[in-house]
Amino acid sequence: MDKRNISLHFVQVLLLAALCLPLAAVEGNPFLSPYKTPFDTPPFDRIQLAHYLPAMQEGMKRQQAEIDAITANPKPPTFENTIVAFDMSGQLLGDVGSIFYALLEAATSQPMQDVANELAPLLSAHNDNINLNDKLFARVKAVYDRRALLKLDAAQRYLLENIYRGFVRSGAQLDEKQKARLREINKEHSLLALKFGDNVLAETNSSFIVIDNKDDLAGLSDGIIAEAAATAKTRNLEGKWVFTAQKTSWIPFLQYSPKRSLREALFACFFMRGDRDNDKDNKAVLQRLLVLREERYRLLGYKTPADYYLEPRMAKTPENVRSFLMRLWTPSLERAKGEAAEMQKLIDGENGGFKLASWDWWYYAEKLRKAKYDLDDSALRPYFKLENVQQGMFTLAEKLWGLKFVARKDIPVYDPEVRVAEVREGDGTLLGILYMDFFPRDNKRGGAWSGTLRGTFYKDGKRVVPFATLNGNFTKPTAGTPSLLSLDEVLTSFHEFGHALNWLFTDSRYRSNFAPQDSVELPSQMMEHWVLEPEMLKLYAKHYQTGEVIPAELVEKLKRSSLFNQGFVTVEFLASCFLDMAWHSLESALDVNVTRFENKLMADLGLIPEILPRWKSPYFTHIHSGYEAGYYSYIWSEQLDCDAFEAFKETSLFDRKTAALFRKNILAKSGTEDPMTLYKRFRGREPRIEPLLKKRGLL
Ligand SMILES: [Zn+2]
Repeated sequence: MDKRNISLHFVQVLLLAALCLPLAAVEGNPFLSPYKTPFDTPPFDRIQLAHYLPAMQEGMKRQQAEIDAITANPKPPTFENTIVAFDMSGQLLGDVGSIFYALLEAATSQPMQDVANELAPLLSAHNDNINLNDKLFARVKAVYDRRALLKLDAAQRYLLENIYRGFVRSGAQLDEKQKARLREINKEHSLLALKFGDNVLAETNSSFIVIDNKDDLAGLSDGIIAEAAATAKTRNLEGKWVFTAQKTSWIPFLQYSPKRSLREALFACFFMRGDRDNDKDNKAVLQRLLVLREERYRLLGYKTPADYYLEPRMAKTPENVRSFLMRLWTPSLERAKGEAAEMQKLIDGENGGFKLASWDWWYYAEKLRKAKYDLDDSALRPYFKLENVQQGMFTLAEKLWGLKFVARKDIPVYDPEVRVAEVREGDGTLLGILYMDFFPRDNKRGGAWSGTLRGTFYKDGKRVVPFATLNGNFTKPTAGTPSLLSLDEVLTSFHEFGHALNWLFTDSRYRSNFAPQDSVELPSQMMEHWVLEPEMLKLYAKHYQTGEVIPAELVEKLKRSSLFNQGFVTVEFLASCFLDMAWHSLESALDVNVTRFENKLMADLGLIPEILPRWKSPYFTHIHSGYEAGYYSYIWSEQLDCDAFEAFKETSLFDRKTAALFRKNILAKSGTEDPMTLYKRFRGREPRIEPLLKKRGLL
């Protein structure tokens, strides 16, 4: 579900390594001469593994020369000769890097990962040379200090402020002693963050239950049992069944197994990870990470880590995040209490003789779901053939913005499964190229994502068109059946299509994009809203054999069931959001007992014992790998997309005028101006929380 953006300007200072540039074999390297492909798309038919490293090294060399030219300029610093010149530096590096890191996820190999490891310290040192370049920062600051006198438009002001802020946030204003301490902190922090993740991985792999009695498999489907047998085999436990702390293993077991004590044992495998007082325990690691963060951000002038992380985001302050979360918390907790009571009634009705516990929730929720909605995922799939879904996305983009998608067979691809389309405006203008890579492969990572093989900007007054990617791991076709998607997969493909449209529509003079984390899911989650609208379903959800449109009563059932268990889902998610914010709002974590801190926070919130936070502190990996004080971002974006979609509800589902406003202010401009300003320009006001509450059944 993520949006990938390779920013080579500001990468955290990690390692200092000498930048040695061997004589790169320039000759025959396709990156170093014009591509001679349609639209200058990457020449995948000629790129070989050996080309990346020398091309990236040449790219670093060129960017360093460009930076040197900026700092050596005898003329006084101006917006053009410093800020624009900096933004335009490193194009070769950016172009090669975009391709390399896209393929590292979608078409990887051990030798490719070796190249990535070789590149990491080189890039890190290269970025240090830029971020800690005093002369460069002095020029940037000189322009920034005179910003009120310069006649800059909104996009120019935003670029200047963000470039300046990027330097400051990396420590450019610190004295030498402070910079040295910052490097020490960064080094210890990066190693500890890796250790935290490694511990969680080790604990996930070593936490499992073994079943050797067939009776203990009661209630489980053949598929789940076969999977557990295969897992046992990989652990040399042939003939037995193993269930692990992986979600794909423990959730089905907790949903379907009537064996209460086994459910309890397996759930503990999951929620006790990193909390067993063994050599993989993460409590002390977490505490040290927080102490380091506190010191780092105090050094940079912030009261708490949360203040640092929130500064560039849409939410702006930790207080704004907390009050937003609180408005969701109260009604969802009420609802969850109701759900728990309903389950207790079911237990009592069966003369269970026990009180609902956290490891019982999935089992009784499943029972209730079946009784109330009787909905089977496999009944939906025939209506969601991949090709129909893809055509549905294209039709939607045509109805809203007049776009045309034309398949291109002559554009080189990195794998024969990849499909390419050129995307044109209604008047024929080329908007960009879209690469679609739908199916799982051994050389591809899991999940779904969207990125670019080349970003967009203006060169000599002309728009350089972007190359967007849409990646998934969707159900593959088999000999007799085409690819039939689950509803979840349909939502995911519309989601990633939304990210891709965002890339394609981006209309920016500059290469840098500063879209904050808590706004990037607006364009993607927005597209999900059309998926189940009856008017939209008519256009694409047709039975792959009969062509019959999905029956209305099936859709109605689906819609009703979408509110089921939402109290639980929202509460367990929000509990982790509060936890993340609380950890990063401390001024000192030095004397904090991790377990007591978490328990007290949950008690203060009134969390019921039948629900645990989705991520407990000892295995909350997000908050050490990019989502620091940022776990709330998902639901913050959801507030935006729910409110934004209401604009179509207020007019009509395919309203061209609303679509044009959304494109002009959000899709084309995100990352180039303040996100709240852009949103207000689209909606005429700030986002309201009510549509989100309504969607989750909390109103
Ligand atoms: Zn996403």
